[in-house]
Amino acid sequence: MTDPGETVACPECDLLQHLPELAPGDKARCPRCGNTLATQSTDPINVPLALTLAAAVVFIIANTASLMGLSAVGHHASTTIPGGALEMWLQGEMLTAVVVAFCAIIAPGGYILFMLTVLLAVRRPPAPHWIGELLRWADSMRPWSMSEVMILGILVALIKIAELATVVPGIGMYAVGGLVVLFTAIMITFDPREVWKRVEWTDYGAEAVR
Ligand SMILES: [Zn+2]
Repeated sequence: MTDPGETVACPECDLLQHLPELAPGDKARCPRCGNTLATQSTDPINVPLALTLAAAVVFIIANTASLMGLSAVGHHASTTIPGGALEMWLQGEMLTAVVVAFCAIIAPGGYILFMLTVLLAVRRPPAPHWIGELLRWADSMRPWSMSEVMILGILVALIKIAELATVVPGIGMYAVGGLVVLFTAIMITFDPREVWKRVEWTDYGAEAVR
């Protein structure tokens, strides 16, 4: 951004050097030992967009397919994530139900929606400036939207649901696993700086990005 580049020490040979601004698909190598110091993902918009679309499909599967078979004495039943949350609510575990619903449904669903909005809007720059606002807002929510926290929340939700009965993993369970992998891949390939570059700043906040 405004920073012309950062100074880094090569982790292999300790040579201090200035990292240049990288174009998509570029790699910065140490001139002394050839160790790769930094890479710029090939396509910081379309790759995360494809991953987010995949995550949206997997998210729907995760929330509608049977999460696990529940084998209680005398009968066999299966539940979904929303079904599990509802079951906890009905059993009087209101707080757990809310935590499960938030961590496994609302937070990941909101994240997918947010990423789709931002990525689709910046595909044809300049993006409207409210995208920048959205990104800034998301940034202030960062402690709550961190993938690690979300993934941990999903896992806790699964464990809580698993406590209800004997667990036989269903399609929904594999979908949740796939979702965790996809979220990680989105975080790795998505570069918010790429979005900032494409946001149209008219009179409002123009100096902030120059
Ligand atoms: Zn080196």
